[in-house]
Amino acid sequence: MNEGNVPEELRIRDTLKTVFGFQSFRPNQESIIKRIIRRQDVFAVMPTGGGKSLCYQLPAKIMRGTVVVISPLISLMKDQVDAALGNGISAAFINSSLGARQISDTYRILKDGRIELLYIAPERFAIPTFLETLTTVPVSLFAIDEAHCISEWGHDFRPDYLNLRIIREAFPEVPIAAFTATATLKVQEDIVGRLGLRSPYIVRASFNRPNLFYQVMRKKRVESQILQFLKEHANEPGIIYRTTRDSVMETVDFLKSRGIAALPYHAGLSAEERSRNQESFSRDEASVIVATIAFGMGIDKSNVRFVVHADLPKNVESYYQETGRAGRDGEPARCLLFFSRGDIPKIRYFIDQISNDDERRIALEKLNQMVGYASHNLCRRKQLLGFFGEDYPADVCGACDICSGSVEAIDVTVDAQIFMSAVARTQERFGIGHIIDIITGADTRRIRELRHNQIKTYGAGTHKGKNYWRYLADELLAQDAVCQEGGKYPVLKLTTKGLDILHGKGQVAALKREESGAKARPMAGSASEAHDNALFEILRGVRKGIAEDEHVPPFIVFFDKTLREMARFSPVTPSDMSRISGVGATKLERYGEAFVRAIRRYLDDNPGISTQAGQYSAFDDGPGPKKKKGETVEETYGLFRKGLSLEEIAKSRGLAPSTIAAHLERLIHDGRDVDIDRLIDPGKREKIEALFLTLQQWNLKPIVEHSEGTVTYEEARLVRACLLSKAPA
Ligand code: ADP
Ligand code: MG
Repeated sequence: MNEGNVPEELRIRDTLKTVFGFQSFRPNQESIIKRIIRRQDVFAVMPTGGGKSLCYQLPAKIMRGTVVVISPLISLMKDQVDAALGNGISAAFINSSLGARQISDTYRILKDGRIELLYIAPERFAIPTFLETLTTVPVSLFAIDEAHCISEWGHDFRPDYLNLRIIREAFPEVPIAAFTATATLKVQEDIVGRLGLRSPYIVRASFNRPNLFYQVMRKKRVESQILQFLKEHANEPGIIYRTTRDSVMETVDFLKSRGIAALPYHAGLSAEERSRNQESFSRDEASVIVATIAFGMGIDKSNVRFVVHADLPKNVESYYQETGRAGRDGEPARCLLFFSRGDIPKIRYFIDQISNDDERRIALEKLNQMVGYASHNLCRRKQLLGFFGEDYPADVCGACDICSGSVEAIDVTVDAQIFMSAVARTQERFGIGHIIDIITGADTRRIRELRHNQIKTYGAGTHKGKNYWRYLADELLAQDAVCQEGGKYPVLKLTTKGLDILHGKGQVAALKREESGAKARPMAGSASEAHDNALFEILRGVRKGIAEDEHVPPFIVFFDKTLREMARFSPVTPSDMSRISGVGATKLERYGEAFVRAIRRYLDDNPGISTQAGQYSAFDDGPGPKKKKGETVEETYGLFRKGLSLEEIAKSRGLAPSTIAAHLERLIHDGRDVDIDRLIDPGKREKIEALFLTLQQWNLKPIVEHSEGTVTYEEARLVRACLLSKAPA
């Protein structure tokens, strides 16, 4: 156990005092520094403000040679170098802000071994001459800051970071130390692998920020809610995050009209205005800043008293990082999220646009985790820490809305017992879907074959919809009453806690949900089903009637996807209807009215159900100024009409061909005149059509794969668009 090496230890402590002027180390700093000096690789996750920089700056003073720091934030490099110089460390940086002359000067003194600490941006490593130069420098350590940027599983992946894989190869003898403030275990594994770290010393400092209070509130009229919150926290400095530039500006205007001098911050403002606003916030001249997530990197104001999220964040990592900007001084601070399920489809819409299957799946999983955080009746702190692989030891943290009892919870013990009884009666050998089929009394072949319609709980849950049960299953998983086992087709098992509840020795409460009533609305954790199931079934009925009348298969009328979208947005006018994907002009004329009528009737019959129809346009146009997306599609259309090919349009607009194909797809869906024969040879088009029809599905990937490289994604997308918008013969 005794790692002590007295002279080394003394030297390290002495440097801490004399060079940095600090009396003692923060947690983990000393052990990391020791390993680095002994030339061991290091991987360290430490919270923001935890003092990561010192871990590589101090060794720069002790080790012979240059410590090379790779950091993505060019804007911060100069400050860091100045700070190091101020401490008497000979430091320099190389990035794109320097001229060729300055760079070659720096190279010269580098080669002389006169620089102790060198900051560089990751893209340098793509330049062969840079690497050549660097190999002539006595490098003592590579320190990689914000190391999560190398992982696609991280929330801030930067392709430039992939260049860093070359370091281990080019400098096999030099230790590498990677630092980040946010890495799940999965991201950690990814970073260690990609950088080629060799049995690294791994540090995962606790992520717990005991002085932060976490809270989720139901989002209703969010601006009034923010105002109320600000009144309760008058004159305290804080950040309000919003998703789009428009909503930032709207909130700022609203607050100003109520006498609160809030400042905006988003990427659409001029650089001057942005830095002016950031400055006056940092200097306590303005207390409230309303910002998109563009704000915060590189702000280290220590007395931020609250961070409010007025819209649902895309994932827990970025949420945690943004909330982390509160209370760095260790004083109490609040983190408040306004949550509405109505925000889910907005994010979902963007996720659906991701063309890479893996990326899309990851993004969706992350969104579901975020929704879980907001909707489970489980200590928020426990959830956040659990997300980063940390087990919070207590059941009650005392500093979140759940633990302080300020949430509205309802008892769901009886429903939980119904669910778990079905799990028990089928010997814990089935997954969620089948259990729900049993309790909702579904008449499936599998149920009949297994005779599960004979067990006592069959049909015991028909008082609630399938979505409700799915949500409850999620809740039971989150609360550790049931667990899943097995890889691809996991089965449910009861935990000790679950058995207690089943036998009447425990209770389960769930948070009161936004939508109540027997007709279940979209449920937790299943963002993919963020449509109204009951309405969906009704619409299917309408479609079936039409299909029978016209002697065509139902999908010729509308695809399920289109009906689902209708069930999600409840369009009640022809113009709203025309915005649903898959409803072109012809189809609108033929079938629009029948579906609009059915939706109206449904909404009239169920007055409690709020339609999201009004929100459709809000997210349809994406973040940023509302017209942006429409305009950009029109721009593509203009170029197409001029006779440019898809590649030419892509090139002239500086966009990816896949984006242009998506624009054309939208235009085709909208019933615009797009002659795709100009883009795809008709013979090939027929072949692709045949592939879609024989494979009987509408995903692009199988088509492209099946064609063995002869069909591109863009071609498949265009042909699909035409097929889908074709009126039935
Ligand atoms: P991060 O982990 O977010 O990169 P920094 O390295 O920027 O954190 O450190 C945050 C602040 O803590 C800095 O102002 C730094 O000077 C200070 N700090 C770091 N280590 C110590 C220490 N041992 N004692 C006192 N202050 C420290
Ligand atoms: Mg840092």
